[in-house]
Amino acid sequence: MRGAYRKVRAVKNRLLNLVDPPVIILLYHRVADLPADPEMLAVSPENFRLHLTFLKQQFKVVRFEEDWTQLKKSAVAITFDDGYADNAVEALPIIEEVGVPVTFFVSTGNIGTDREFWWNRLEKILLQKGRFPASFRLDDSRFGRTWDSATLEQRHSMYNTLVALMQRVTPDRRESWLNQLEQWAGPVESGENFHRSMSHDEIKKLAASPWASIGAHTVTHSALSALTEEQQRKEIFTSKQELENMAELEITTFSYPFGRKQDYNNISVRLSQEAGFVKVASNFPGQVHRWTDPYQLPRHLVRNWDLSKFREEIESFWTR
Ligand SMILES: [Zn+2]
Repeated sequence: MRGAYRKVRAVKNRLLNLVDPPVIILLYHRVADLPADPEMLAVSPENFRLHLTFLKQQFKVVRFEEDWTQLKKSAVAITFDDGYADNAVEALPIIEEVGVPVTFFVSTGNIGTDREFWWNRLEKILLQKGRFPASFRLDDSRFGRTWDSATLEQRHSMYNTLVALMQRVTPDRRESWLNQLEQWAGPVESGENFHRSMSHDEIKKLAASPWASIGAHTVTHSALSALTEEQQRKEIFTSKQELENMAELEITTFSYPFGRKQDYNNISVRLSQEAGFVKVASNFPGQVHRWTDPYQLPRHLVRNWDLSKFREEIESFWTR
């Protein structure tokens, strides 16, 4: 039955595409070869070059912030979230070499510092080898609990639970948990910093490229739905303002952190409109048609696929 339903939907979508050619928006995060990548955010430079070359040969590639309502045929838009340094160091040269427009949504809280995103800090604390205490007790009025933590396997399951919980709490609460974990684990081997955000100069480099555009992605990368209206306002307006100061450009686009329906709410949508954004990206699959809400644009997440898998996935994006 499921197969039959999928087929009917695919035929329906193909017909719809003839009437109103859609745009599909791709979502990348990082271009890097990483020793470990538990969130599967990175695409290798080799695969990224193959993806872009294929897209440029096969489709019209449009800019995220353009008006798409007059497009006569279907098109693809490319976006990045978060603002990792590899966006400027690894991705931008490939983007310029191939020649396709890309929009980068940047969280500003770590820009110009060595601080890492909270999920990278959590990974660094929990997913390293070495001796750990037999258990960890999280001190929190609502989420407090104890985990077994002696083996790497136990810490993997602890990581998975905590990464999901930390998406749904305020930045202060998350910071307190990370501090508890850092004290409990003792000094973490710092090693090479694979996870830094862009520097001010790297933001300027993106701003100066004819192929790159910059959008906002909050300050602390928290799910907006976990925050009060005032906190949401601060996250949205401050990241816009900070990027405008750094890039010396008007910032007219935004993407919701995590971006699934449960990660933002009506207040987030209203504040995005109030901030003057013309388009806002979410993170669930779908196509953009003339009738799609410009403040909740669907995107397809891209993984580290080789070319044949990428072609197959792109093909499926036109029908789902
Ligand atoms: Zn993000």
